[in-house]
Amino acid sequence: MTNSDPKRFATTAVQSGKMENSAHPHATPIFASSAFTFDSAEQGMRRFSGAEEGFTYSRFGNPTTKAAADAIAALEAHGLQDESGSPVLLKALLHASGQAAMSTLFLSNLSAGDTILASKSLYGGTHEFLTNLLPRFGVNTIFSDMKDMDKLNDTLRKDQTIRMLHLETPANPTMQCVDIAAVAEVAKQNGRKVSVDNTIATPFLQQPFKFGVDFVFHSTTKFLNGHGNAIGGVLVGNDSVLMNGPVYNTHKLLGGNSNPFDAFLLLQGLKTLPLRMKKHCSNAMKLAEFLSTHDKVAVVNYNGLPSHPDFIISTRQMHRPGAVFSFELKGGFDTAVKFINRLQVCVRAVSLGTADTLISHPASMSHSGMSPADRLKSGISDGLIRMSVGLEDCDDLINDLEEALKVER
Ligand code: PLP
Repeated sequence: MTNSDPKRFATTAVQSGKMENSAHPHATPIFASSAFTFDSAEQGMRRFSGAEEGFTYSRFGNPTTKAAADAIAALEAHGLQDESGSPVLLKALLHASGQAAMSTLFLSNLSAGDTILASKSLYGGTHEFLTNLLPRFGVNTIFSDMKDMDKLNDTLRKDQTIRMLHLETPANPTMQCVDIAAVAEVAKQNGRKVSVDNTIATPFLQQPFKFGVDFVFHSTTKFLNGHGNAIGGVLVGNDSVLMNGPVYNTHKLLGGNSNPFDAFLLLQGLKTLPLRMKKHCSNAMKLAEFLSTHDKVAVVNYNGLPSHPDFIISTRQMHRPGAVFSFELKGGFDTAVKFINRLQVCVRAVSLGTADTLISHPASMSHSGMSPADRLKSGISDGLIRMSVGLEDCDDLINDLEEALKVER
């Protein structure tokens, strides 16, 4: 936990993730080694017992994956201070995917008989994990919009099985936002832990630890990598005892560790995160404004538009509203399919946070594992289209949308 950093965010993004090495490499190297040698049997024993720091086996830790994890911890902690005015220190563990980071989080914090209270709009894989997988291990989920803090307080007081609260804000693909500070305060008063999926915001736009949460996870596959060339995830926590104890042990035993090649790519992406996010966000705002005034568009769900129900919450806790949104066309599903097929510049693909603009259909793709009823409850209609806005010239994107919107209903 050595990530306090007095520099500006962009400098931290460019300069963190470096390591000491006798060859003095300028860029952090790819340590493609499954194991690390010991000078003696005794040294190996000391490393395994924790009496001496050092790498042993790459599932337990690897210099390249550690460098990327430390860089993300530095960004999530950037500029934050604890109650005593000391820099916030965070610990991060790099994982093979966002799902792997989430698995470590939930499986290390929950046991049979526990309940998790989750915000109601979530990435499809998270929703499936909570509704289909955790119940097999005796853990149940309650979904809530978490808008009414008195009700939340009441729920936590009455239901002692609720061990943790999980928020995805902004949520994929509805961009629904939850007031992180308000929820964290109620959770803390009731002695419960809070985790946030910060994938869509990134620490450049939103730092949940500032608002009192205990854990943050990301799919690093998205904006943190930024180039769509590696799947990854990261779990970040502020309690060193928990992070170095049960959380690390669960991570090690589940085996969802990342690898040095993907970590290297992630390190390259992190260096340009602030630059990219500014352009992603300004393009997204222009496209959302364009679509929201188009007569063929029924609704645009973008937390950067005053018409979005969570515009005020988002403005309070994010520096900018992000670069993902969803929208519906007046003709519903059939028109949406024709529209998607007419696009020439926007790329038809799932995922989000890449340099190119991606367009997808949540009901049949990212959220297809949910039941139609659950999709509707979380705001995903069959006609909903999701857009992750890239770094292209915005005029080309607007022209592309304009042409595709000439679709016949
Ligand atoms: N969280 C969010 C908000 C996502 O959008 C995704 C994937 O789309 C995930 C988590 C899961 O990440 P991964 O695909 O890297 O496992």
